[in-house]
Amino acid sequence: MCNINKRGAEDSAPHIGYIDSVYCGSGVDGKGLRCVVFFAGCNLRCPFCHNPETLFRQGEAVEADALVARLERYKPYFKRGGVTFSGGEPFLQKEFALALARKLTERGIHVLFETNGHICDEELIAAGEIVCDVKNQETDDLSAYAKFFAACVRQGKVPQVTNVLVPGKNDSAEKLRALARLVKEYFPQGKIKFLPFRKLCEDKYKELGVPFPYAAVREAEEEDIERAYTVVNDAFRQNS
Ligand code: SF4
Repeated sequence: MCNINKRGAEDSAPHIGYIDSVYCGSGVDGKGLRCVVFFAGCNLRCPFCHNPETLFRQGEAVEADALVARLERYKPYFKRGGVTFSGGEPFLQKEFALALARKLTERGIHVLFETNGHICDEELIAAGEIVCDVKNQETDDLSAYAKFFAACVRQGKVPQVTNVLVPGKNDSAEKLRALARLVKEYFPQGKIKFLPFRKLCEDKYKELGVPFPYAAVREAEEEDIERAYTVVNDAFRQNS
């Protein structure tokens, strides 16, 4: 079962959280123009992680009301957009994330969570649109997503499923078919969006003094992505 907590008077208490940074002006983290809040800390250590600074730094302590006031200044620019919680893993900081999401929603600002789907919390799932990045590298177990996806189904939510495609690591037909089966089991109308593995983050690893696990792996090209879509689309059709 997912975590479900009753909420009460604590809603008025100040909520302190840890963030790495805020970037306003993203056009790729959900619909429309968005501010992205990068939460500090993550429960996973993906070898392709693009944001290692969120894993190895404590982050800046911020109060939810102060951050909402800062984000609200961008409201005139959002139009179809809003605020995306990314990281790191926003679901790790439940009370802070919930306070932010509720305050932003009250102000008419759209909220989207980018999560790794390994922390299942019904209240957080209910608090915004969901993008779930499924990890299927050599040692990843797809059964880790069962609780999270089942909770989304209970709430009638279809998350946008993304997957970082890494040549030679998770792009075999077998891996891609397993990914398609997982998504189709819970979301028959669902879609997978492939994100090409990139190494622009290499400098960040150097600055942090941390080895980049996939430094020797090549980046994904357009033809890798096209092939992956062909395999998963075939798998969706065959199982229908
Ligand atoms: S879940 Fe995201 S932030 Fe966490 S290690 Fe993986 S890629 Fe990095």
